Amino acid sequence: MSVPMKYLIFLSILIASSLSSSFAFANPCEDTRQLKSLWETKYIKLVQNPEALGNGFDRSSMAFKLANAICILEYPGLPKYDGIYYRYYTAMIKTLIINLDSSRVTSGTLASTSSLGVIEIHREFFNYERPDMPFAGTSTILHEARHVELALNNKPNYHVKCTKGILKESNIKACDAEFAARWEIASPRSYEVMFLSKLYEESVYYTTNQAIKASINNTLENYINDVPIEIYQYFYKR
Ligand SMILES: [Zn+2]
Repeated sequence: MSVPMKYLIFLSILIASSLSSSFAFANPCEDTRQLKSLWETKYIKLVQNPEALGNGFDRSSMAFKLANAICILEYPGLPKYDGIYYRYYTAMIKTLIINLDSSRVTSGTLASTSSLGVIEIHREFFNYERPDMPFAGTSTILHEARHVELALNNKPNYHVKCTKGILKESNIKACDAEFAARWEIASPRSYEVMFLSKLYEESVYYTTNQAIKASINNTLENYINDVPIEIYQYFYKR
């Protein structure tokens, strides 16, 4: 069986990344003091209603968790990937709105794009009982940013009904039809997998590779209908 060229390119990028040197900089995302500084000087400005996050900035606070997710998106991967994440990061960060009223969103929804350029962060985003946190939060921000970008360019990107996974019996359209490894055409969920893959390859200084992998696996198994066997094999052999 021949492997389509587009996946070969994706896999070679991953392998090349894994051979290159690891991060040389300190990890601001795991240092509460540095993260608090980033939050107060930078990230808080992105949030329309930061008071909804409550008080305090310890590791269990919502402000810490949101800052942590943004920090991970911003730092790893940025220097080596032509700033592509930064482009999406800035594209989405017109406004974040904290909406903790979970009665109006599908269970398990971390964030959504409510109108052009506006991303709502939901209660599930702060659920660190999940094994895939904080990385599911980070990749979800990127996912929503991709929706924003597609909308800005008048390219509809609607999710489709899931043909497998936990939502198979549901009519909720929460899945991407297929995995695509090219940035230009990649769906929001493909973005998540590609970002998390890069993080996984370079995350030697994180102690939480299992959480990254859990997030990748959850997306591949439950939210992308057609995943090439090569992609599964790549992650399951690890
Ligand atoms: Zn989506």
